[in-house]
Amino acid sequence: MIRSITQQKPEEEIDQLLDGLGRVFIVGCGTCATLTHTGGGPEVEAMKEKLSTKGRLITGDVVLPVACDNLTTEALNEYGEQIELADALLIMTCAFGVQTIASQLKKLVVPALNTVFIGKETGLGQFNEICTQCGTCVLGETGGICPVTSCHKGLVNGPCGGTNNGMCEIDDGKDCAWTLIYNRLKELNRLDAMRKLQKPRNHQGEPRPGKFTIPSD
Ligand code: SF4
Ligand code: SF4
Repeated sequence: MIRSITQQKPEEEIDQLLDGLGRVFIVGCGTCATLTHTGGGPEVEAMKEKLSTKGRLITGDVVLPVACDNLTTEALNEYGEQIELADALLIMTCAFGVQTIASQLKKLVVPALNTVFIGKETGLGQFNEICTQCGTCVLGETGGICPVTSCHKGLVNGPCGGTNNGMCEIDDGKDCAWTLIYNRLKELNRLDAMRKLQKPRNHQGEPRPGKFTIPSD
């Protein structure tokens, strides 16, 4: 399972973003933000209460099934009047949801969450970032473990020399990515790949924003 991992912005930041906006409609997401407990039903309720206490009028709220889905417009249409009454939408979804809604409604959007990474479920309730879409994949040389994402220094010619009993020198609670790569390559009888020098990386990579069109047959 792949999920957008989000964190709620500090209360003071949300207050600043909403400065001068007295009437607010709140939007949550029933998928990723519900899973991370950052923008599901209980968090939307708590936000409503918090903002009301501070004197803001909540014109309405909704937890969309999947905020980043294009069907979101139809779901929001049902709340047309309440949205119309609001000065802004406070959006408790990941940035994909915020941008989907912003592109579909002529209304000021205020994100209540920070989107921190795209996580893959690697254990029960555990999500890890395993790819940062660098555009130059080296997994073929590293036994399928990504050093760009998993090594704190993003080294593609590791290890750095600071590895301590298999743990990372920057975070001793985290396995050294290059020790994991070494062990994996050893298991696969491919330790020769450790000696292969990766060329300096092109940090421009794929030009941003990335674009893709499905090729016609
Ligand atoms: S090297 Fe890592 S970050 Fe780059 S594409 Fe491959 S898995 Fe993703
Ligand atoms: S200890 Fe390992 S994971 Fe940590 S920075 Fe050095 S090579 Fe990367």
